[in-house]
Amino acid sequence: MSATVTDKVADGGCHGGRETMLAAAHAAGKSDTLDRYAADYPRGPHDQPQSMCPAFGALRVGLRMRRVATILSGSACCVYGLTFTSHFYGAKRTVGYVPFNSESLVRGQLFEDIRDAVFEIARPEDYDAVVVINLCVPTASGVPLDLLPKQIEGVRIIGIDVPGFGVPTHAEAKDVLAGAMLRTARLEAEAGPVARPRQMIVGDAVALLGELFPGDPPGVAAMLAPMGLTVAPQCPAREWRDMYAALDCAVVAAVHPFYTASIREFQAAGRPVVGSAPVGVDGTAAWLDAVGQAANVAAAKIDAAKARILPVIEAAIAANPIKARVTVSGYEGSELLVARLLIEAGAEVPYVGTACPRTEWSDPDREWLQARGTHVQYRASLEQDMAAMRSEKPDLALGTTPLVQKAKEMGLPAAYFTNIVSARPLLGAAGVASLAGIVAAQTRGKARFAQMVEFFEGVGVPDAAGYGWTGVPDLHPDARAKARKLREARAKAAEAVGT
Ligand code: SF4
Repeated sequence: MSATVTDKVADGGCHGGRETMLAAAHAAGKSDTLDRYAADYPRGPHDQPQSMCPAFGALRVGLRMRRVATILSGSACCVYGLTFTSHFYGAKRTVGYVPFNSESLVRGQLFEDIRDAVFEIARPEDYDAVVVINLCVPTASGVPLDLLPKQIEGVRIIGIDVPGFGVPTHAEAKDVLAGAMLRTARLEAEAGPVARPRQMIVGDAVALLGELFPGDPPGVAAMLAPMGLTVAPQCPAREWRDMYAALDCAVVAAVHPFYTASIREFQAAGRPVVGSAPVGVDGTAAWLDAVGQAANVAAAKIDAAKARILPVIEAAIAANPIKARVTVSGYEGSELLVARLLIEAGAEVPYVGTACPRTEWSDPDREWLQARGTHVQYRASLEQDMAAMRSEKPDLALGTTPLVQKAKEMGLPAAYFTNIVSARPLLGAAGVASLAGIVAAQTRGKARFAQMVEFFEGVGVPDAAGYGWTGVPDLHPDARAKARKLREARAKAAEAVGT
């Protein structure tokens, strides 16, 4: 790579121009990886949903695992943000970092430094695997993590590229790492005997795909019991050897429908996959049918499972009716399931937006929702979510942080999907009660929101925003014009790079 391009890349990142970074990464030999990401995680209708740095998803999946060390290779500002967010969300592990500068990037020293770090940390008494994540700049510069040793004294080395310009959301970045680890585990299992999983499964099991509330898998296990099935360790896994048990499942349940690379590994292992999840009465009945049929369970046993759980869910819905108009948006992958459950519980849901792409695994939920008049927006942008909220005027908006902020400015009750909805049960009867509780608690404050909007009328809005202003700030049109010209010149120069 030329020094000019390297300088551009080193200055790049989130604000450096996606096309420049993509061109640099292709030129640096990352075409195979980027082409696979483009196929696994299709874009559109707009370019990229607004969400946090995608690499956070992969980082989080690694940090949740026992006996797995994680090393980041990227710009210091990215690593600062990612580690800050990790610890904010309660990561109890250290995040390794291999710093670089333009010179170590150009000379290839960064790869040598990563290699040294990997050899230093890969101690079999401490770790089963070391994960190395290339962020934007090292990916665009072609730092070849595939040249790292595949294992050091039995410790697997998993090197992945997770650039913001190649992986659209942090949800899909989870799949990048989960898929890479499942692939290694599958190849190990195919090659010969492997370590005994921590949780030995007796009989046929269903592997649940997606990060779920901890109480949900035991609830699903109880639902499956009349069919003679149980749950396998979840994926993304908590420990390396649990992946062997997951791969040994009878059926994969793609509860979160965006795990394309992980599903590819399960399918390569010969496992059937079903979409959707046991939410509400309709959803649970359809899901038990699909799982039972995929696992070759006799119809009488499937009926027995339904006969046991459906009346319980029906009773939970009757005891927790939801009378509200709700818009749903988020980037977790469970948005369609939440919308489904809300509707079954009596809510009106005119719009559901998800930052994740459309895959066949969410088709049952999409079709069910569309049949009830809900607009389903995949790869939803913040603007689409906001427009839906403005036009639908819901009693409650479930969404991302900026959406919640906007809702509160409008005096609308709103709740952050990730911290409120995803942090509670969703499946079975427990999901009904929890969702109804969220809606009731949030909508109760509607009158208070209206009072607050009235009370703070005009305070903290555009020209008066910020602490300590007593008047409207002076405008500086010349400075604005100058800044705009500079931005345009920079964008033009960036376009020229690599042509
Ligand atoms: S790694 Fe994340 S924070 Fe850093 S430049 Fe890429 S997208 Fe932005």
